[in-house]
Amino acid sequence: MTIRIAIVGLGKIARDQHLPAIKGDAGFALAATVDPHAQPCDGVPHFRDLARLLDSDIAIDAVAICTPPQARYDQARMALQAGKHVLIEKPPASTVSAAQALATQAADTGVVLFAAWHSRFAHGVAPAREWLQGKTIRRVTIDWREDVRVWHPGQEWIFEAGGFGVFDPGINALSIATLLLPRPLIVEGGHLAVPENRAAPIAGYIQMHDSSGVPVTVTLDFLQQGPQTWDIAIDTDEGRLTLSQGGRILNLPDRQSEGTDREYPEIYAAFSRAVAAGRSDADFAPLQLVADAFMRCHSVVAPPFTE
Ligand code: NAP
Repeated sequence: MTIRIAIVGLGKIARDQHLPAIKGDAGFALAATVDPHAQPCDGVPHFRDLARLLDSDIAIDAVAICTPPQARYDQARMALQAGKHVLIEKPPASTVSAAQALATQAADTGVVLFAAWHSRFAHGVAPAREWLQGKTIRRVTIDWREDVRVWHPGQEWIFEAGGFGVFDPGINALSIATLLLPRPLIVEGGHLAVPENRAAPIAGYIQMHDSSGVPVTVTLDFLQQGPQTWDIAIDTDEGRLTLSQGGRILNLPDRQSEGTDREYPEIYAAFSRAVAAGRSDADFAPLQLVADAFMRCHSVVAPPFTE
């Protein structure tokens, strides 16, 4: 069965990744796009809002929601109510309770909610998980630093309430960590630096431990210049595992492995399997940790941020 899908939010990630992944997957057909201002794609019906698409005679089975997180809940809710399967970009909603409400609604409606944690599909993540089996983990160090001016130009929503600030990339690290580590993580404390003219953090240091006491530290920085850092190091009784470049490169004590980016084709393949099985796949553990960090960390004032 071909899944007729509409993309909602035709911004950077939709154009860079979702459009090519849908085009490259014979199991999907792009049926429509929705965005208030964006230029439509050639030959694809375009709507200024989701309600108009759902009221139209264009038949769709699913939507991929790629808008900023603040708009997510209302759009996903509307799509689920109309009986459409929903693939939702990370983070799945701007609050944990909204994400949970969507999962409940999907279950009640009998359609699939798929939370797309793209970093979990990075080349090194599955072999890293396999290598960790049976080893004793002693310490986890997450270092996630990128230049917001390079990666998110003009994305004002990112520093607004519900935009997550530096947790927009940081939640990718947490999505990998929560997949790799065998026990739940607990936020102990730390600090989040919020520019005086913004609502969301630009940097942070968060201390966590897993439920057996293994320390996990997370350093986030949105002002990194020069080489960009998306690293997770896991020290074990049999040496150190390092995932770098967001999970694309895996270093083990006895070998290195590096792969090409197949995250979004893998996401669509997994979404297709979830729809075929009629089973939602929506893990909110990374979102919960971000919420816990907002609850547990000190907030400090940082200098104003301007592009
Ligand atoms: P973006 O470039 O700002 O794109 C978002 C798009 O959604 C914009 O075209 C925006 O239009 C549109 N939009 C806003 N409100 C809408 C609504 N109510 N209905 C329909 N469209 C609406 O942001 P992005 O970088 O693509 O990121 C979007 C989401 O994907 C974020 O949650 C982000 O975390 C996630 N993501 C991004 C990346 C990345 O590399 N950029 C990677 C993975 C995941 P206006 O600009 O006119 O408001």
